[in-house]
Amino acid sequence: MKIRDIEIFQVAWSPGDNASQHSAWVKVNGDDGLFGIGEASPMQGGLASLGIVARDLAPALIGEDPLDHAVLHDRLLHRFVKLGPEGALTGALAAIDIALWDLKGKLLGQPIYKLLGGAWRTTLPFYASIGGNGERSVDQVLRVVEERLTDAPAAVKIRFDNDRTQLDSDIPGDIAKARAVRRLVGDTMPLAFDANNGYSIGGAIRVGRVLEELGYWWFEEPVQHYHVKAMGEVARRLDITVSAGEQTYTLSGLADLIDAGLRMVQPDIVKMGGITGLLRCAALAQAHGVELVPHQTQPMIGHMASLHLAASQLHMTKPCELNDPSPRMHAVFENPPRPVDGLFHLSAEPGLGLRVNDAELATRRVPVR
Ligand code: CA
Repeated sequence: MKIRDIEIFQVAWSPGDNASQHSAWVKVNGDDGLFGIGEASPMQGGLASLGIVARDLAPALIGEDPLDHAVLHDRLLHRFVKLGPEGALTGALAAIDIALWDLKGKLLGQPIYKLLGGAWRTTLPFYASIGGNGERSVDQVLRVVEERLTDAPAAVKIRFDNDRTQLDSDIPGDIAKARAVRRLVGDTMPLAFDANNGYSIGGAIRVGRVLEELGYWWFEEPVQHYHVKAMGEVARRLDITVSAGEQTYTLSGLADLIDAGLRMVQPDIVKMGGITGLLRCAALAQAHGVELVPHQTQPMIGHMASLHLAASQLHMTKPCELNDPSPRMHAVFENPPRPVDGLFHLSAEPGLGLRVNDAELATRRVPVR
């Protein structure tokens, strides 16, 4: 089979969405009628990545064999490296890579986890990833957490999406929320705290000490992501597991984080090289005895790609991230996986295992020029 053409488009989830809220999709069509779907990191609607796919990657992929996906990935990364290998380019390559794995699965009649060497588990727990807590009062935080507990998550992460230009803006308030959530869920429910780069080193140590006392599982991105040494200093000084890596786009960037002292890394499949890229991250993490817990806040395509990879990895046992509920999760698929009793179940359907509802997709498809 050869790649016949590649479609790029956004998906608008509700009529009021603006372009920066859309998902960024690619559809790779083979010359025998099979196709694969992928998605890029949707920052600002993923338009930068989709532009790179349309102008640079797609013309180089027409006529190629989709089973050569890893060679194609590395060839294109090097050919276009001067576009900047940290961000839009790796998001574009991720979208193509996920689509080629989906296509490969359909071609061979196997789910992706089989192509990765088999699954350690096909039922996967998740954690409720809850954003927007910086702006909420303590009571509001508790109400939102309570609501998400009804899905039976294995753990809860509270995220503080504060203004990144204002470090340490409300440390007492953040600590009060962390304490209140611990009281709400009891001593045994695993909790994580995501600072979204909101602290100085000193601020992070102060918050981290309280999280240790409260028995939090991990402390995510305490300081600015670009201060790798500072991230490492916080990780080394605290006993709690400190994590980072969702804003890391290359394998060498991930190696730098591990070298700095991070013992849990969180690269994202739609930002760094898709399944091929994340597979390499898994090997790197395993070689260093570092936990890999992928960042993953996107709707079905990125979510499913991440689940297939997690299923295939011996050490990837922490629950998978599940973002705030959104109509984006289910709207265009005939068989969107939903957690049952706190678990996602991977099917044996080929590729990602997602069947697109073409009529629904047609109503939401936004052309990209
Ligand atoms: Ca995060």
